[in-house]
Amino acid sequence: MTVCEMCGKETEVFSAIIEGSELTVCAACGRFGKMLRKPVMRVVKKQAVEKAPGPVETVVTGFASLIRSAREKAGLTQKDFAMSLNEKESIVQKLENGAFVPPISLAKKLEKLLKIKLVEFEQEDEVSNEKRGSGPLTIGDILNVKK
Ligand SMILES: [Zn+2]
Repeated sequence: MTVCEMCGKETEVFSAIIEGSELTVCAACGRFGKMLRKPVMRVVKKQAVEKAPGPVETVVTGFASLIRSAREKAGLTQKDFAMSLNEKESIVQKLENGAFVPPISLAKKLEKLLKIKLVEFEQEDEVSNEKRGSGPLTIGDILNVKK
């Protein structure tokens, strides 16, 4: 199995130093640490560099406080939250103090769980209206994402 230790995606993985520890991560997650560029598995064939079509998705700069306040509003401890995310508690801590920028895949998971906006397209598009009028979250909302 070649599963990214950070986002859980099954894909081609690499070794990378992230937050001081060596992890096996996908290329996307490896960007947040120091890639060792040493494929863990044998790569079948290197394909031509894929061009990312369309605008690039990025994580909003204020993600740390957004995550923390939404999580607290939902009445979840970091541990509970980590469990519902299927991530380590330390990841949640790092997310909330801004030490770890979530990969897009994780950010999208966070968005769904917390009903907040974390991913934006890299564009000069200032969204000044921050009030989104979504009521306070309940644990039921968090744990029962599918409707
Ligand atoms: Zn990953």
